[in-house]
Amino acid sequence: MASRKRGLKFCPETNDLLYPREDKERRVLEYYCKTCNYCVQADPSEWCVYVHATVVDEKDKITTLYDVTADPTLPRTRDVRCPKCNHNEAVFVSEPTEQGMTLYFHCVACREKWRDYV
Ligand SMILES: [Zn+2]
Ligand SMILES: [Zn+2]
Repeated sequence: MASRKRGLKFCPETNDLLYPREDKERRVLEYYCKTCNYCVQADPSEWCVYVHATVVDEKDKITTLYDVTADPTLPRTRDVRCPKCNHNEAVFVSEPTEQGMTLYFHCVACREKWRDYV
């Protein structure tokens, strides 16, 4: 049960997965159980999660909204070549991936992001 995705809800009655649906009349998001018709209104803050989750992956959302090249506290290197625009300055950050920590470069000119394969 450790792999339950964050944000998923389960019916307190039958323990089934609750499905999100839009109540068009009341204009609210609610979760309902297909088995016993249990229904609970979603917290307004979950609206965003629901809407975004259908468009982009949570991880992508964070990296797209957060402009790392504008962060002065991050380390920079002039030892690289951007694969897209050939610029030679990039911000680098390490991010956790399934294979462990991986180094990513972000071109300060065109914001291209690429991985450091070593
Ligand atoms: Zn149920
Ligand atoms: Zn570039």
